[in-house]
Amino acid sequence: MFSDFNKVPLPYNEPVKSYAPGTSERKEIKAMLEKMRSEEVDIPMVIGGQRVRTDKKVRIRPPHDLAHTLGYFHQGGEEHVKMAIDAALSARKQWQAMSWQDRAAIFLKAADLISGPYRAKINAATMLGQSKTVFQAEIDSACELADFLRFNVYYMSQIYTEQPKSEHGIWNRMEYRPLEGFVYALTPFNFTAIAGNLPSSPAMMGNVVVWKSSNSQVYAARVIMEIFEEAGLPDGVINLMFVSGPVAGKVILTHPDFAGLHYTGSSAVFNTLWKNIGENISKYKSYPKIVGETGGKDFVIAHPSADRQALVTALVRGAFEYQGQKCSAASRAYIPESMWPEVKEKVIAELKTVKMGAVEDFTNFLSAVIDEASFDKLASYIDNAKKDPGIELIYGGGYDKTKGYFIEPTVIRAEDPKYVTMCEELFGPVLTVYVYPDNAWTETLELVDSTSPYALTGAVFSRDRYAVEEANQALRNAAGNYYINDKPTGAIVGQQPFGGARASGTNDKSGSYLNLLRWVSPRTIKENFVPPTDYRYPFMEEA
Ligand code: NAD
Repeated sequence: MFSDFNKVPLPYNEPVKSYAPGTSERKEIKAMLEKMRSEEVDIPMVIGGQRVRTDKKVRIRPPHDLAHTLGYFHQGGEEHVKMAIDAALSARKQWQAMSWQDRAAIFLKAADLISGPYRAKINAATMLGQSKTVFQAEIDSACELADFLRFNVYYMSQIYTEQPKSEHGIWNRMEYRPLEGFVYALTPFNFTAIAGNLPSSPAMMGNVVVWKSSNSQVYAARVIMEIFEEAGLPDGVINLMFVSGPVAGKVILTHPDFAGLHYTGSSAVFNTLWKNIGENISKYKSYPKIVGETGGKDFVIAHPSADRQALVTALVRGAFEYQGQKCSAASRAYIPESMWPEVKEKVIAELKTVKMGAVEDFTNFLSAVIDEASFDKLASYIDNAKKDPGIELIYGGGYDKTKGYFIEPTVIRAEDPKYVTMCEELFGPVLTVYVYPDNAWTETLELVDSTSPYALTGAVFSRDRYAVEEANQALRNAAGNYYINDKPTGAIVGQQPFGGARASGTNDKSGSYLNLLRWVSPRTIKENFVPPTDYRYPFMEEA
């Protein structure tokens, strides 16, 4: 309808750089890693554009190199949460009055800063702070974050052009107002792109935001904030604070102007937040929008007709890239009996070639898990599995936290398809395999669907189209992102909008217009150019 009305640049997916030996990007990132390792940064909160420091400084170390110090961040308390809310509310009037084209320009500029002058910095920060290999950092903090920003600008313009029809003499309009209050963005450690997207997507739609990053992602979060500021984001629109989740919740979730929650993280924390919101519902001026993308127990199921090498590659990449710390990581696999000996041999052979260590050494495929709590949790699941007579250790099972939080890529085979590691999210490099009888395809599909409370991602491998079709139907509600003959990780903005249902979240598909719609409260405007001047209708006249 308004196709030529202030068209925004067409979005595209940021090309992924290879970092192969001899490339300029490799040289640049190596130099940046060295520089960042050589300095200790002091990271204040950013509230209303002010740098806010406290007397509680928390040390930041690379999870793979615990002896090294990257810097310190300033931990805040309740007063800083209040300060962030006040700063957001003071910025609200001016920000929501700014034209959407100007808001778009800020975020488009941020995307170009990320893909250009800040690329090495944001990638190096993600590598050092979150122990991502250069490739994992590139697809996350550079490419996916730039994609979120560019695609969201495009979807925003699409939403604004969506208008109701008007009869003669009347003009009907839909005004996509921002929410009346502030949005709370609460972000996880595992994706810098998500940390950037959760505060920026509501802000793009005209909202003001209080952002609490994960303590384990502060090192890259401050680069995101730096980029937003350089792109021209006015003070107070996004306020970055470093406080504990419960402290933030206590102030935010009881505030009358709390208007929305944009969350990604574990299901358990989301459940607590939702419950708190419910308990405080009478305190709010509006019903808050609640968006949460949460945990997963993502499956790979192979039909006897599956291409074995493709399956093996999907398992190795899907389960172990970024140490299995992706919400989409393959963590339970269902392999037919006839195929298992060959698949097992190939997985072991591949994993033997996998190197684990510091991300600064580019030959490593895996690095450390995020923190000690995660390390200890994984180690205890592995210990329990080793002791269980129903478990066969196929590969790995070792762990060591002397230098960093290293857990070997581990594959176990469970006799019981409902064994604990087939059902619960471990969030680490552990893959559990269940071997099923070849003639039990239908029953195994049912098992996949009913084993875990989650429904985030899943993959089916088959060359038999009838089997694919049966799986498509049987697993319709088992995954919000469903893959046929591909690994269940690596969703790309604009191509595979991401999110799951059941215990995996509200499925509002980050990086799509569906998500942006949650951050508006539309006002319908009807204007009558020649309004009636007599209350009587024709039917009321005498015959
Ligand atoms: P987490 O639940 O530990 O933390 C998420 C955020 O909540 C962090 O900022 C944390 O500080 C905060 N938090 C922790 N406890 C809190 C409490 N009691 N009250 C309020 N806030 C609290 O998650 P994480 O370890 O950072 O991330 C991993 C989890 O995120 C996994 O479960 C993973 O599946 C999920 N995840 C989901 C998606 C998705 O799109 N579905 C994407 C990435 C990660």
